[in-house]
Amino acid sequence: MSELVTYSQSGKIGILTLNSPPVNGLGLPLRRAIKAGYENALADDGVQAIIITSAGKLFCGGADISEFGSPDAIAEPHLPMVLEQLEKSPKPVIAAINGAALGGGLELALACDYRFAHPKAKLGLPEVHLGILPGGGGTQRLPRLAGAETAVKMITSGIPVSAAQALQAGFVDEVASDDGDFLTEAVEYVKELLAIDAPLRSCADMEVDTSKLPENFFAEFRNSIARQTRGYYAPERCIQAVEAAIELPLAEGLKREQELFLECVQTPQARAQQHLFFAERANTKVPGVDPKTPARPINSVAVIGSGTMGGGIAMNFINAGIPTTLLDLNGEALDRGIGVIRTNYEISAKKGKLSVEQIKQRMGLLKGTTSYDDLKEVDLVIEAVFEDMAIKKQVFETLDKVCKPGAILATNTSTLDVNEIASATSRPEDVIGLHFFSPANVMKLLEIVRGARTADDVIVTSLQMAKAIRKVPVVVGVCFGFVGNRMVECYGREGARMVLEGASPAQIDRALTEFGMAMGFCSMADLAGGDVGYLVRESRRDELAHDPTYAVIADKLYELGRYGQKTGRGFYIYEGREQKEDPEVVQLASDLAAELGVEQREISDQEIVERMIFSMINEGARILEEGIASRSSDIDLVYLYGYGFPAWRGGPMQYADETGLAYILAALQSYRERLGEHGKHWFQPAPLLEKLVADNKNFNDFAGLT
Ligand code: NAD
Repeated sequence: MSELVTYSQSGKIGILTLNSPPVNGLGLPLRRAIKAGYENALADDGVQAIIITSAGKLFCGGADISEFGSPDAIAEPHLPMVLEQLEKSPKPVIAAINGAALGGGLELALACDYRFAHPKAKLGLPEVHLGILPGGGGTQRLPRLAGAETAVKMITSGIPVSAAQALQAGFVDEVASDDGDFLTEAVEYVKELLAIDAPLRSCADMEVDTSKLPENFFAEFRNSIARQTRGYYAPERCIQAVEAAIELPLAEGLKREQELFLECVQTPQARAQQHLFFAERANTKVPGVDPKTPARPINSVAVIGSGTMGGGIAMNFINAGIPTTLLDLNGEALDRGIGVIRTNYEISAKKGKLSVEQIKQRMGLLKGTTSYDDLKEVDLVIEAVFEDMAIKKQVFETLDKVCKPGAILATNTSTLDVNEIASATSRPEDVIGLHFFSPANVMKLLEIVRGARTADDVIVTSLQMAKAIRKVPVVVGVCFGFVGNRMVECYGREGARMVLEGASPAQIDRALTEFGMAMGFCSMADLAGGDVGYLVRESRRDELAHDPTYAVIADKLYELGRYGQKTGRGFYIYEGREQKEDPEVVQLASDLAAELGVEQREISDQEIVERMIFSMINEGARILEEGIASRSSDIDLVYLYGYGFPAWRGGPMQYADETGLAYILAALQSYRERLGEHGKHWFQPAPLLEKLVADNKNFNDFAGLT
């Protein structure tokens, strides 16, 4: 028999042990081996019951992702066939779930007669995260075993449950002890089943128990998840599949599940979500850097500047148990910064997310200082002082003098040249950009900015550090604004310009949120602060001088002291938490437009979305061509985790691929012609976009060429 499944026997019990590391992915070879192993045990007259378990830490992680989209994924025996065979077994089959059982892994267990689980096992059906539904009977068997409510919640959320929860829900029959030998206990359990002549239990003989299901359950459930699933295709099909489990006998329900599964597989949402799944596995591969390069140890960290960013950055490290020194030259600012951190924890404690003891422990890892002497021994320093090159250089000169050899010196700058900052030290190889997003303790994105001379092991260490503090890292090159802010600049430019051309902030925001953005541009600008945007524009006035209309409405609001939420007025008026439209902004825009000779007109929602999102995509093409990002999927991660781009669209570059690059190019060309001087200057298509269209390729293909 294949070594992918090993066979052993304990008395009258045959034991099939899955042995296909790392996750027992149910690819064709493993499916064949399970089938062969089962048939072998079935044919053995000495065997009365069959256990399926695993040799690894996981029981089974589900489908083999490397098989996705290939003919092997549906080659026979495909998963439904294998499971049907197990389900119809004349000898009882028992899943001994020794660790996580996810997706097809849980479906395998559900097709067995009984389930015996390790207390630490997690059981779940996460397919919805890939834009699909469980296609191996999960939507039909789980409701029969656990009830429709548990099943529909697990399947639409994709969130796994513990063995204890599964026991209570009824789809695990027994949980092993905490400290015993798992397999020995599993064998004992099966012996007991044989001793009492426990019956075979096939889901085909069961109906979904709806006696306790509240009236209107499905309608109310749909309402309850409507907001968070807006735009996604699979969740509704998951619900329909569970409804089918109630209405149809198993065999027909399984057919319905297959139909719904195939519908999901062919959607742009499934392609987008799977693209992101792979994006999150590709982002740590950095061109020219050997991933096996040994990392430097990071056992202590210092953060310089205890303002908005410094405090949030420090929290990431103390949350991960790493002692952190927070330095600010201004003692009052330091006290304030530490106070904000404490308050943040206290808010979490009030919500029941942290205990008093945990707050004490975390605050115990934080040390405030105003002296650089306290930074002598730290392994990593992250600078988050004012966005001013002269100040940053001074800080790095000091760090160069104070820090031990090998310490990593990082800057959190949003826009400044990391190479120039590095030049203030005698060790540019130790300097890197670590660009966190605000609020830094919440936002998952970390742009790792690779300077011209940054050492490979500094990059590898930064990637590992990102994982330790649970961020999603994307390695980018040095340019103004890196990937995220460079692209968002185009988006904001068009947003502000369209307010000038006659769209109201509310219309702009509505068009964007309907597209799927978590927040509209004008609301986002008000949240970030009009003063922040103004300072960035100030640093680029020379470059922008040719366009007197550039963000003039935002400049005007700044002049009026309307910085957004922090001053109660910006693109909108804020009263407490309430955001109201401000008719004055529309009037200001109209006056400015008249002054600058910009014609005001009705602007369609389609134009809003296209000008803002397509401009951003065009800049993304330049970023790719310049090698600032290594692959289009990295850009997509930046937008997913840093800017609230809808995951079901897969990020701006995947959205472009899905829309068709030829369409995007034609739209850019058309705006270039229609928008006069503005169009001529800002809607020049990126050469890479033109080339990909000419070659009939997409951005994802370009990733393949680098
Ligand atoms: P901030 O003004 O809130 O805080 C800066 C802190 O640095 C202040 O407490 C100040 O006292 C301290 N400081 C100034 N000079 C110092 C010095 N020489 N030594 C020690 N401390 C000094 O600023 P912020 O918003 O936290 O931004 C900090 C950095 O992070 C900037 O480079 C900014 O571009 C970048 N950044 C900001 C955001 C954001 O949304 N605010 C997002 C990403 C990156």
